Amino acid sequence: MSQQLFAIFGNPVAHSKSPLMHNLAFEGLDYDACYTRYLLKDGTTLKETFFKLNLKGVNVTVPHKEAAFHACDELDTFAKHIGVVNTIVEKDGKLYGYNTDAPGFLKAISEFKEIKTVLFLGAGGTAQSTSSILRDEGYEVTLLNRSPGRLDKYIKDGFKTFTFDTFEPNTYDLIINMTSAGLENDSLPASKKILDMVIPHAKACVDVIYGKETPFLKLAKTYQKPTKDGSDMLLYQGIIAFEYFTNHTYTFEEIKPYMQRAFSL
Ligand code: NDP
Repeated sequence: MSQQLFAIFGNPVAHSKSPLMHNLAFEGLDYDACYTRYLLKDGTTLKETFFKLNLKGVNVTVPHKEAAFHACDELDTFAKHIGVVNTIVEKDGKLYGYNTDAPGFLKAISEFKEIKTVLFLGAGGTAQSTSSILRDEGYEVTLLNRSPGRLDKYIKDGFKTFTFDTFEPNTYDLIINMTSAGLENDSLPASKKILDMVIPHAKACVDVIYGKETPFLKLAKTYQKPTKDGSDMLLYQGIIAFEYFTNHTYTFEEIKPYMQRAFSL
């Protein structure tokens, strides 16, 4: 078998840790493959670009996860349900699509015990897959978003939703920042007034942003709450994607130590 080539498609894509994560695992496990990055400007060209580059698989990041869904010939049940794909594998000329963000996220929060009610701050693409898997697993998910537009599909799916203006505080075991607030600025994902109403009653606070302590996590710490950033989510979605890329040749635990090194280099 000749060396397999994998890539991440995104725009922007220069910042992505995925090439490092996957190449460390390929090298450590002695699997003959290489992983690169590709700046994909037009999502409608995803499929032809995939085949032109002679790839075996890709991860797909912002803003092409819905385009990736449409590019696939076959979808696994969960990806089909949520309409968002972040991992594609080629088999016999067909593209198979999966979503590994959601199971990666689920595993990342599994360390927090006795969690029943969850408040999502934000209702974008990441919230879409993760809210669905959490509900499937029996969590009660409420979404709070800055603007009403994005909440329509959640309302249709039966989720409880609020905007900042309509918010009625309640007790939530876990509060999760699903927005990009705090990624490149110092903003909180909701007003301090709202956060001061919910954080004190929470068992823990989580952010999907990784690699920095966001204003949201800093605020949670002032209330002595356990916190967690998005690094494990990123790592776990990568490990699950790697399982698909290598057709489950390795277990999660075999892949983990190699891929994890990307976070300490
Ligand atoms: P989207 O662009 O799809 O959605 C952005 C969401 O953030 C919207 O709900 C938007 O609200 C809200 N928002 C943005 N800025 C603010 C603000 N200043 N105040 C309040 N709300 C705000 O983004 P994604 O869902 O794709 O990504 C969200 C975050 O998740 C990003 O920070 C990304 O880096 C992170 N992420 C982490 C991963 C990991 O592995 N750890 C994986 C994937 C994503 P509105 O509707 O009002 O605009």
